[in-house]
Amino acid sequence: MYVDVHAHLTHKDFQDDVDLVIQRAMDAQLSAIVVNGLEPASNRRILELSTQYAIIKAALGIYPIEAIHDRVSGLPFEVSHFDVEEELTFIAAQAKAGRLYAIGECGLDGYWVGEETFGRQEEVFLRLIEIASDAQLPLIIHTRKREERAMEILAHHGVKAVDFHCYGGKVKPALKAAEQYGWYFSIPANARHNEAFRKLLRDLPEDRILTETDCPYLAPQKGTRNEPCHVVGTVEFLAELRSWTKEQAIDKVWQNYCRLFESGRKSNPDV
Ligand SMILES: [Zn+2]
Repeated sequence: MYVDVHAHLTHKDFQDDVDLVIQRAMDAQLSAIVVNGLEPASNRRILELSTQYAIIKAALGIYPIEAIHDRVSGLPFEVSHFDVEEELTFIAAQAKAGRLYAIGECGLDGYWVGEETFGRQEEVFLRLIEIASDAQLPLIIHTRKREERAMEILAHHGVKAVDFHCYGGKVKPALKAAEQYGWYFSIPANARHNEAFRKLLRDLPEDRILTETDCPYLAPQKGTRNEPCHVVGTVEFLAELRSWTKEQAIDKVWQNYCRLFESGRKSNPDV
């Protein structure tokens, strides 16, 4: 049983063949694809997909740059225009109704946008942390160039159920955080080509490793579209790095997924 804990199957690159992509994931023995939301349109589409396919697990969130869409211009990609407060209310209601497996993605970004946006980014991040803690859901964190600050906020609020997706910060503080706070790190499918991801796969506590794709981005082969079935290659790489059998690596990651995403759900009969 493989897992992809961070996928964007709502991306336009999947609009023509999402059913085939999901079928390929099932054929490759994936048991869960946590599809992450960014703004209202993707959040709603994810809920639809999760009712259509048992393998699709819904995570709703507000991407840090979408959270400040009204304060930025000239970005090389499009942002949507929506009422952030209304969307937070919507996400909270879905969480309360037991439809979600996680809150995400959410977090802080200092790569695309500047300091003048950090205050508002943190406000929205804090609201999503609160929603997750009220509903006892894990958080899936995006952070770029703001890793230390994101960790500081999560630690300050005593948040335990956390997955850092595609973590690009320094490796040492990540290893320390995994030890100290029990946070998880999901490693993308391009890990063979990235020294930091390789180190994380090799050195993280074995019960804190997860796999993801961030598809359609970060394909193992540059310039191609990524998709959930590519987590298989990451698990194979993990087995190589730790001298485990492939079955051991599959099992470890699966148990980690269950501990973070499934363990709290058994008490909720509505799901
Ligand atoms: Zn993402």
